[in-house]
Amino acid sequence: MRLVLLGPPGAGKGTQAAILSEKLNIPHISTGDLFRANIGEGTPLGVEAKSYMDAGKLVPTDVTARMVEDRLSQDDAANGFLLDGFPRTVEQAEILKDLLAKKDQVLDGVLNFQVSDDVVVERMLARGRADDNEETIRTRMSVYRDETMPLIDYYGEKIIDITAEGTVEEINDSAMKAIGK
Ligand code: AMP
Repeated sequence: MRLVLLGPPGAGKGTQAAILSEKLNIPHISTGDLFRANIGEGTPLGVEAKSYMDAGKLVPTDVTARMVEDRLSQDDAANGFLLDGFPRTVEQAEILKDLLAKKDQVLDGVLNFQVSDDVVVERMLARGRADDNEETIRTRMSVYRDETMPLIDYYGEKIIDITAEGTVEEINDSAMKAIGK
């Protein structure tokens, strides 16, 4: 299956993606994780991404899209993937569509993790990541609203809503049911 995970920062996409990846036997491809790995290794890509991430802003699309194209071309992604954190804008969604079209592929669905603002803030403060301070969280929430939420309309019938509140297991059950597994 080729799935995109959508939802505000702190919706628990990463946690769910890790579990779904194992159950469905397809790679979890998180652009945030890929950037963090590059930062950890001190690569030029990491150096470029860091200032944007620290500010809660989007890393420029050309850089991000190249990284995704490279990752999707690896063997383990040939039969499916869970994309977590990409696309984040309609422009990126168009790029993804073109990338997949070149391989005669389409997305099977877009899991939209729905969660209240209170739960988002609670989860973000609990995980304590480097970019989880109050100001950055606020910026990321507004980037999500302005740039990423339009994807819900963009994907239309491909959207599969998941209520992302409750325990990790409950949310996972909902996600598996929603994709017919
Ligand atoms: P995440 O781990 O998905 O919350 O992403 C952390 C940060 O990485 C974001 O706040 C952005 O700075 C950057 N990032 C992740 N994915 C993308 C993307 N698709 N486009 C641009 N920036 C991204």
